[in-house]
Amino acid sequence: MKICVLAGDGIGPEITDQALRVLHALDLKFDVTEAPVGGAAYRALGHPLPDSTLKLARESDAILFGAVGDFSLDTLPRELRPEQAILGLRKELNLFANFRPALVYPELVQASSLKPEVVAGLDILIIRELTGDIYFGQPRGIRTLANGEREGYDTMRYSESEIRRVAHVGFQAAQKRGRRLCSVDKANVLDTMQLWREVVSEVGEEYPEVALSHMYVDNAAMQLLKNPKQFDVIVTGNMFGDILSDEASMLTGSIGMLPSASLNEHGFGLYEPIHGSAPDIAGKNIANPLATILSAAMMLRYSFNLAEAAERIETAVKRVLAQGFRTSDIFEPGAKKAGTIEMGDAVLAALS
Ligand code: NAD
Repeated sequence: MKICVLAGDGIGPEITDQALRVLHALDLKFDVTEAPVGGAAYRALGHPLPDSTLKLARESDAILFGAVGDFSLDTLPRELRPEQAILGLRKELNLFANFRPALVYPELVQASSLKPEVVAGLDILIIRELTGDIYFGQPRGIRTLANGEREGYDTMRYSESEIRRVAHVGFQAAQKRGRRLCSVDKANVLDTMQLWREVVSEVGEEYPEVALSHMYVDNAAMQLLKNPKQFDVIVTGNMFGDILSDEASMLTGSIGMLPSASLNEHGFGLYEPIHGSAPDIAGKNIANPLATILSAAMMLRYSFNLAEAAERIETAVKRVLAQGFRTSDIFEPGAKKAGTIEMGDAVLAALS
């Protein structure tokens, strides 16, 4: 099992270190390679996603990704900014399906800004299409109109095959969970989304055991706050998924707890916490490494088919929370304050 570790910027190296410690503690054999990405790669090699990094990523079976982002490089041309690395990896490796579970741990119910009864026991999965939609559609740009005024424009596009393949991913994920899939679109206003709804419905005929529903994105944004437990799996396009998955992450109360996976059709995946490089807390040993540790568990499950090993990690994380260990982002009075390394230590101890 070849794992390419792209730690990136800010807290990236600190949190991937802890995830690697956990992986190495399992009785499995990994071949680990590391390469620079994001701002670190720009500084070292002049590009946020250097060819050498992309080559290593391609030669691996899975990528463990930390985070990219460095405010001091925000004035660079867009193609050289650290965040371009993650967009480039998604595009180059065809990572079209983004899995974002949002799970509320009983011990962290109070961390949510919603009422405990609304979020207690929440366990939903958002699948966001990641390589199409208005983020990649052409034409796009800023042009000057005949009257001298500037106009910005982007293009929302989805081909039938792009919709079909992510719909299959959604149905298959729902098959393994509660067998309910909600497709989120804006078919009442956008032609692209009308096609989305038609194609998802067609694919649904192949999965009669999964209950398919459709919801407009504005309603979905409301329902996620009003009654999030009504959902099992949500499948949606790139832009709507971007917004809804961040909203859903806040139901759980902590950005430092949530893992994600971005997969291609062969099960190759990039696994990363949903948060960014958190430059405000980098290098202080206070970042929560659990989202990255849980991303490593997702890697074992989805890329290496090692569900049991993944569960070992997930159970260890539940155990350390039950034991009262908390990094500062999820700290509450009476808990045991842990730094990044101490949280890694606690997970290692809980594994055994
Ligand atoms: P962020 O997610 O980095 O941080 C938001 C807030 O959450 C900060 O207060 C931070 O301290 C806190 N936080 C984040 N992760 C944490 C953790 N593991 N433990 C404890 N606290 C944590 O978002 P931001 O501040 O808006 O962006 C910082 C940089 O990250 C930017 O350059 C942005 O572009 C980039 N970014 C990268 C990714 C990615 O690599 N996939 C995603 C989002 C943002």
